[in-house]
Amino acid sequence: MKIAVLPGDGIGPEIVKEAVKVLNVLGEKFELEEAPVGGAGYEAKGHPLPDSTLALAKEADAILFGAVGDWKYDKLERALRPEQAILGLRKHLQLFANFRPAICYPQLTGASSLKEEIVSGLDILIVRELNGDIYFGAPRGVREAPDGLFAGSKEGFDTMRYSEPEVRRIAHVAFQAAQKRGKKLTSVDKANVLETSQFWKDVMIDVSKEYADVELSHMYVDNAAMQLVKAPKSFDVIVTGNMFGDILSDEAAMLTGSIGMLPSASLDKNNKGLYEPSHGSAPDIAGKGVANPLATILSAAMMLRYSLNKADQADRIENAVRKVLEQGYRTGDILTPGCKQVGTVAMGDAVVAALRNGPRPG
Ligand code: NAD
Repeated sequence: MKIAVLPGDGIGPEIVKEAVKVLNVLGEKFELEEAPVGGAGYEAKGHPLPDSTLALAKEADAILFGAVGDWKYDKLERALRPEQAILGLRKHLQLFANFRPAICYPQLTGASSLKEEIVSGLDILIVRELNGDIYFGAPRGVREAPDGLFAGSKEGFDTMRYSEPEVRRIAHVAFQAAQKRGKKLTSVDKANVLETSQFWKDVMIDVSKEYADVELSHMYVDNAAMQLVKAPKSFDVIVTGNMFGDILSDEAAMLTGSIGMLPSASLDKNNKGLYEPSHGSAPDIAGKGVANPLATILSAAMMLRYSLNKADQADRIENAVRKVLEQGYRTGDILTPGCKQVGTVAMGDAVVAALRNGPRPG
């Protein structure tokens, strides 16, 4: 089982180190190989996604990714900016299905900005399409407006588009995920305004005929944003496009107390995947040893479950994370009165200790 380890920038190296520490005490034979990506790729090889890093990512069975980005690269041309690395990996590896679970651990309900009764027991999954939509649609650019009230003025423009196979493949992934959970799927769109969204909705309805056991409903994205803070537990699985999913999954992240708790998986059609925390490189706290490594550790658990076929080891890690929360360990982002504040390394150590003391698989 070869794992490409791409720590990236900012807090990326600090949190990935803790996840690797956790993987190394599972008693499995992993081959871990590290490569630079993002700003680190640009510094080492002149490109955010160096050829050697891409080759390693292609050859590995799974990719453990930290985060990329730093404000110091904001002046670089877009193609050389760190964030292009993650877009490039998604595109080159055809990672089209992004899974973002939002689980509110009972010990962290106090860290959520919402009332306890609204979030306690929350367990929802957002399935976001990753390869299409306005993020990749062409044409795009800045031009002279060809028509309209401001014809002749400078304008910026992008293109929202989804092909039928793109919508079908994410629909199947989402229906199958719902089958394994509460069998409720909400497709989020803006079909009252956008042609692309109406098309998305029509394809979802067509695919739903193959999944009679899953209840499909539709919701406009503005309402979904409201319902996520009003009654988040009314959802089971949400499926949506790239842009709406980007925004809603960050909103869902905050329901759980901190974005530092949220793992994610981006999968291809064979379940090969890239696993990363849902947050970014947090340059504001990089190097201070205070970042929460749990989202990255939980991403490693998702990697074991989805790509490496080791669900028992994934359970072990998830139980160890629950255990350290029960023991009261908290990084600053999830700190509530009466708990023990720890830094990145101590939180990783606590998970390792819980793993060593907890039950072993088999
Ligand atoms: P961010 O997610 O990095 O940070 C947002 C806030 O959350 C900050 O206050 C940060 O300190 C905090 N935070 C994030 N992760 C945390 C953790 N593990 N523990 C404790 N606190 C944490 O988002 P941003 O500030 O908008 O972006 C910073 C950089 O990250 C930008 O360059 C952006 O482009 C990049 N980014 C990268 C990815 C990725 O690599 N997939 C995703 C999002 C943003």
